Amino acid sequence: MEFCVYCLKNVDVTIEEKEEEIVWKGEKLTCIQKYAHCNECGELVHMGELHDFNLFAIYDAYRAKKHLISYSDVLVLAKTYKHVASKRNLSKILGMGPHTFERYCDGYIPSKAFSDILKELQQKGATYLLEKLKNHRDSFKSEEYVKIEKKLLDMVLSEQPPVLTLDVDFGETGWDKPKKFAFAA
Ligand SMILES: [Zn+2]
Repeated sequence: MEFCVYCLKNVDVTIEEKEEEIVWKGEKLTCIQKYAHCNECGELVHMGELHDFNLFAIYDAYRAKKHLISYSDVLVLAKTYKHVASKRNLSKILGMGPHTFERYCDGYIPSKAFSDILKELQQKGATYLLEKLKNHRDSFKSEEYVKIEKKLLDMVLSEQPPVLTLDVDFGETGWDKPKKFAFAA
């Protein structure tokens, strides 16, 4: 039930989904927008969650059009590196302002330059973060630096492909049989 300001009471609503063309920040975007209608009078009913949904749909369409990292990808990065460093420290490692990464996690749209950094992190993983950490060594106290470096190194090692396995049938090569090598004295 939602409150209808026309009927002045809580009413059942019907959600309508429309594909709309919206101009935002000078870009013509096509995105899905949702609206709630009062089942009794048919007027629009304000719903906070739909308002957020509609806003994020516009942001997502804008990001896609501008080739910026998607919001869900930002959240995946935040989750992936959660155990390595706080959002504040991740910002510092990546050379952003202290609250920048946190804002991106709240849905702020990154600049092209920072979006590119985040996309590079997506592609290269912990190795890239380690490289960035080294570049911004001065931003950290030494014990903090060592702690983060250790976690990243562990991550880099676990990201490596498993040790090369030889796909050889030893039975065929005869290598399973002990061989004696004679060396001339
Ligand atoms: Zn109504």
